[in-house]
Amino acid sequence: MLEIPEWVWEFHGHHCPFMPIGFRMGVIAMRELGIDKAKDHGVFAFPEIGVGHPQTCMADGIQASTGCTYGKMMIERTNYGKIAFTLYTPEKRALRVAAQPGFLDELGAFEFFDYRKKGIEPSEIPWEVTRPAVEYVLNTPENEAFRITRPAGIEFSRPKNSFTKVRCDACGEYVFERYLRTRDGKNLCIPCAGYLKEETNVTP
Ligand SMILES: [Zn+2]
Ligand SMILES: [Zn+2]
Repeated sequence: MLEIPEWVWEFHGHHCPFMPIGFRMGVIAMRELGIDKAKDHGVFAFPEIGVGHPQTCMADGIQASTGCTYGKMMIERTNYGKIAFTLYTPEKRALRVAAQPGFLDELGAFEFFDYRKKGIEPSEIPWEVTRPAVEYVLNTPENEAFRITRPAGIEFSRPKNSFTKVRCDACGEYVFERYLRTRDGKNLCIPCAGYLKEETNVTP
């Protein structure tokens, strides 16, 4: 049986069944692609989570098992609101792992969710209640729990690294060049330039 290392529980902060779903999905995807946990920047994970649903915990499991961490910009959510993710390498090989509906239906019947529906946070739910749901996630035969496909045509590249930074003429803080805005001949960071949050995205 797959075991969740203790450091991963600590990193995630509480015990729940969805972080383990992501951890297991990551292990499966790495095995199928024949790759190890990423050390540097060559692999990307695309969890299909959105916001405002509890299953987003799976993204921490994916980060822990694949090494595709947020800080290294190796993980990006698609906002589809689905319990699935794709692991991608620059060699254009991609593997998608999706939770089977029947697996999620059965998972939803565990007592853990009775507590969650009452608004009790996972860290306050007794381990005796959470453990059966976690074990179900880790022990369900792979083909019952997940659907594995090899999507074609996925293209992804990250913005090129730029090491050039300039000081903002208003606040004096450093800002990386591509985020610099010019107003009346002044070099300004985005907050000082008064840009809206929606306008801060940078294209590759
Ligand atoms: Zn969680
Ligand atoms: Zn500024």
